[in-house]
Amino acid sequence: MRFSFFSLLFLCLIFGCSPVKKSTENTPASSAATTESVKDDGIIEIVFLQMNDVYEITPALSDNTGGMARVATIRKELLAKNPNTVTVLAGDFISPSVTGTLKHEGKRIRGKQMVEVMNALGVEWVVFGNHEFDYSDPADLQARLDESNFTWMAANARYKTKTWTMQFFKNRNGGQEICPDYLTRTFKDADGTTLELGVFAVMINSGQQPYVEYSDWAAAAQRCYDALAPKTDVCIAMTHLAIDEDKKLAKMFPKLPLVMGGHEHENARVPVGDVIIAKADANARTVYVHTLRYDKNQKTCTLRSELKNVNATISDEPSTAAVVAKWEKIKNDSLASAGFAPYKLVRKLDQPLDCRESTIRNQQAPVGAMLTAAMLAVARHKPVCSLVNSGSMRVDDKLTGSLSELDVLRILPFGGALVEVEMKGSLLRRTMNASEGNRGGGGYLQYAGIQKTETAKGEIDWQVAGRPLNDNDIYRVVLGEFLLTGKEHGMAFLKTESKPEGPGTTNPEVLSLLKPAPGDNTDLRRDIRLAFIQYLRGQ
Ligand SMILES: [Zn+2]
Repeated sequence: MRFSFFSLLFLCLIFGCSPVKKSTENTPASSAATTESVKDDGIIEIVFLQMNDVYEITPALSDNTGGMARVATIRKELLAKNPNTVTVLAGDFISPSVTGTLKHEGKRIRGKQMVEVMNALGVEWVVFGNHEFDYSDPADLQARLDESNFTWMAANARYKTKTWTMQFFKNRNGGQEICPDYLTRTFKDADGTTLELGVFAVMINSGQQPYVEYSDWAAAAQRCYDALAPKTDVCIAMTHLAIDEDKKLAKMFPKLPLVMGGHEHENARVPVGDVIIAKADANARTVYVHTLRYDKNQKTCTLRSELKNVNATISDEPSTAAVVAKWEKIKNDSLASAGFAPYKLVRKLDQPLDCRESTIRNQQAPVGAMLTAAMLAVARHKPVCSLVNSGSMRVDDKLTGSLSELDVLRILPFGGALVEVEMKGSLLRRTMNASEGNRGGGGYLQYAGIQKTETAKGEIDWQVAGRPLNDNDIYRVVLGEFLLTGKEHGMAFLKTESKPEGPGTTNPEVLSLLKPAPGDNTDLRRDIRLAFIQYLRGQ
């Protein structure tokens, strides 16, 4: 980097560091400009362009924010100013999305569109997020790893099979390229200043797939840091952790200038001592641009972080836009052949429909009331109540204006059938209490026909159809079939399958299980989205 004394002084005022004396003191003032222009000034700036939690490749329909082709433009502009620019995504990208649920060329897309777009955009480093393990078949994740041109990291997650446990890897040229726990990179600027940077990554333990083994993230981070600290000038972290865990990490490693995180979906810049934890908004509504300035002589680091809105003022980068357009066409064609009319009006909204996760995962929300009413409306066996996990709603947005079928698909990207059961009151109570325990997460339920009450002692109690829940009564309930897999957080006890040899189920507290008849196109229970679209149209 080239500095005159005054520009250096000026920058030092901005960054709050003391001027570096070495490069000016020994040089006569008259020749300073010519000799300094090639002399290593001991100062280097590197830039990180940060995204996290990106599921959509196009701008949001509701407010035209986000869009990966716009982020690619930001990256190009940053690179033109400073070649030492690294683009990162701090977890959650291959799922969920409407496109990911569709089929293309006979195969489920399952995040292929996102990897292709990230390759075109020029993403270099990612940390695994919990959604990278959404797909139950590890072959889907492996395909995405193999297709990607970027480096995936998570020091506390391992790929587990029946016979071995190892780091995740990409298949490359007949061999395996390991996804590292950490890496180092040497940066060099125009005047020859070099910086040895270390980065490590850890993720949240979501425990959802048998093919992933998690170890303690703090111990893994310590191991990485101990390996990196002696051989690097500066160390940073990429995380996909809840913010409280990020704060713990920042306390463990007070010398990190920067922790680039994700998972919360809302932008945050949280200082903990000298450590800055940064998270951008989901779906690239915003991106963070971090400029890290290192003074080699003083061994000091300063960080400037700018949260940048990604909106229509930023043009599309053409090559990324072309990849986005290709997948948009695949999506629209596929939805049309599945019987959905993506851009067909479902309903005009009188007021914004709040589908933000911070709302639906914490309280009974209007969208939950509509969805559970839709479930009751299409049921065929007169259930008294309906239950759906708030995690099945993924759009994480306030929808306004006109709701299209695509919006319904974005709200409910997984779809899935509705099933009707007769369950014991004791199981219904256990389910509702588990839902309360899941508040804040996707396992918090939206429900209809049930009211939360309190006992005289102030403990949680429940009413069904206006009467106290009785553990010995039998209740007819309609619910999303996912809940009966037992895979919802804290609800393994709900696992229920039909007995092949006749009535009854594998769950002693579920007396009967009724599913939609295969091939019956009049039965809207076959897809919760069809039920919701019909309900919304009828209102
Ligand atoms: Zn996450």
